[in-house]
Amino acid sequence: MTKHLDVVSYCTNALADLLKGVTGLYGLYDVQRFSFDLEPAEARWILRRRGDNVHITIRRFPDMMTSFDVPDGKGTLEWTSTRPRTSLAHAVLMAAEKVRRTHGEDGYLRKWVLHPFPTTELKTLRHLHLAADGCALQH
Ligand SMILES: [Zn+2]
Repeated sequence: MTKHLDVVSYCTNALADLLKGVTGLYGLYDVQRFSFDLEPAEARWILRRRGDNVHITIRRFPDMMTSFDVPDGKGTLEWTSTRPRTSLAHAVLMAAEKVRRTHGEDGYLRKWVLHPFPTTELKTLRHLHLAADGCALQH
């Protein structure tokens, strides 16, 4: 599997946005978008549900302050991957739980300053993943 790494500013609630974006893949809409603020660049994640799979695209725009209404196609394609929804949700859950184990909710708030750990968002995604994906991996 290929990897993608960005260093994200604490100005947006990035972990919550990621959890909410993946949670959205269990709802009515086939496309979910959210952006990470790379100060000043925008890394825009576009998740498209296709049956049991999710097509993930990350596009980069030079300036988050001006790019919020710029269409996806104008951004630089940084990374793309197609994964089963269950694998994506599982990976995001495990990553978020690892963050909580490593830093604790108090430590997370001290580091991230503007946003508390997204406990509710994590719980919601875990519930949907377990109920809808039939994931056989350990949780
Ligand atoms: Zn799982």
